Amino acid sequence: MKIAIIGGSLSGSMAAIILGRAGHEVTVFERSKSGLVGRGGGLTTSKKVLDELKAQDIIDTDFPASPFYDLKMSKRTEEEPYLGVNPLTKAIDMHCVHWGGLWSNLVKRVPDTSYLRGQTLVDAKDTGDGVSLSFENGATVEADVALFCDGYNSMGRRLLFPDNRIEYRGYLVWRGTLPDSAITDHAPLADHPRYSYTTMKGSFVSFVVPSYEGSTKPGQRTINWAAYLPVPEDMLHHYLIDAQGKKRDGTVPSGALRPDLDEELKTLMRSELPDYYADILSKSSGNQLQLIYTNSLDAYGHGRMCLIGDAGMVVQPMTGSGLFKGYSNSRDLAVALAGTTDVVKALEQWSSKQTQVAHTMHDLGNQMEDAFIWNTVDLANTSPADCKTWWQSKISIPDAFSYFA
Ligand SMILES: Cc1cc2nc3c(=O)[nH]c(=O)nc-3n(C[C@H](O)[C@H](O)[C@H](O)COP(=O)(O)OP(=O)(O)OC[C@H]3O[C@@H](n4cnc5c(N)ncnc54)[C@H](O)[C@@H]3O)c2cc1C
Repeated sequence: MKIAIIGGSLSGSMAAIILGRAGHEVTVFERSKSGLVGRGGGLTTSKKVLDELKAQDIIDTDFPASPFYDLKMSKRTEEEPYLGVNPLTKAIDMHCVHWGGLWSNLVKRVPDTSYLRGQTLVDAKDTGDGVSLSFENGATVEADVALFCDGYNSMGRRLLFPDNRIEYRGYLVWRGTLPDSAITDHAPLADHPRYSYTTMKGSFVSFVVPSYEGSTKPGQRTINWAAYLPVPEDMLHHYLIDAQGKKRDGTVPSGALRPDLDEELKTLMRSELPDYYADILSKSSGNQLQLIYTNSLDAYGHGRMCLIGDAGMVVQPMTGSGLFKGYSNSRDLAVALAGTTDVVKALEQWSSKQTQVAHTMHDLGNQMEDAFIWNTVDLANTSPADCKTWWQSKISIPDAFSYFA
């Protein structure tokens, strides 16, 4: 079949590799004229997902990741101002990768002739026996099936489900990176901590990723950090006005954050976080902001148009499920289309399974959000046994995906 893929980021590249290998004629239409580069450096997933991508030759077998085996729930105290206390540790198999390194590794498997840059989709219509796509440059393309891999603000989702809305979750993430060569004490970087704050709701995470070239050596890695901060909707304007005084929508990218706001947040974190991490923040520049959204869908497509990855259901980032969603949507689609004579029916069955799995991710996201943002146990004043009981009451792990071991 002739398959048009809108968006050539992680999901679009994986869909092109998997469906191209299944014998379909795939073309990726990517809006960006240049290559994509990681806005924030790192991406978290599970070892299981990376192993499957390697086994399927979707990424190189030696593609580097920084592994973490424990999630350390921690908090700053007066007695432990440097690294805080850690009464609760959960086993994980989280692997963290360089975003740009991952995308480059994927996209090198997509022939240049099948990956078209500078192509912005402006409209798509299901014609019954195919899909007609219109692009900003005036071009039109006919395809048997269209896959929308166009991210959280998907045009495909808007066309298919015009009433569907992404909803602000009441918090945003302020995040940044720092080369680990900028600090001298590397020992704590072996950990993946999640800190609750001393006086406010929300939490902070940190992890290292290999360099773009793949080095995992101390001194060549990048520290990624993310501070999740509750902000009521009517206060968002304070965060979304950029350095040029322009109101942003959902994201303030690296380089556009107001310096006074960056300083304000660094000062706030100085009293909320242990000194070790507050020092990392104070040295970080080029930080960015993203509002956290989710949505809920009853289907992953209609007729001959499908949603893949973040174009489908957007779930909370702390689930680390972005790569899994794009991969499993594409893998299942190749299986659904194999040898079928009734494409629409095959896509309907595929959609039903994707929707079901996405809802389990969303449920996990809701639980993690409650445990990590809104109702964290007081880690400074609760015994390890009580912390364990609290965790058991908060989080139940779905079979489909999680980075918990
Ligand atoms: C450049 C970039 C950097 C990122 N960096 C990080 C990071 O450092 N850490 C992290 O955790 N997550 C990052 N993300 C988000 C993360 O990659 C995704 O949430 C997740 O992996 C799902 O990927 P996706 O391919 O479904 O969607 P996305 O990665 O959002 O990709 C959507 C793609 O569709 C293209 N597109 C959108 N609309 C159109 C249109 N109308 N016509 C044609 N093309 C269109 C976009 O240009 C983009 O390439 C980044 C995303 C991008 C695009």
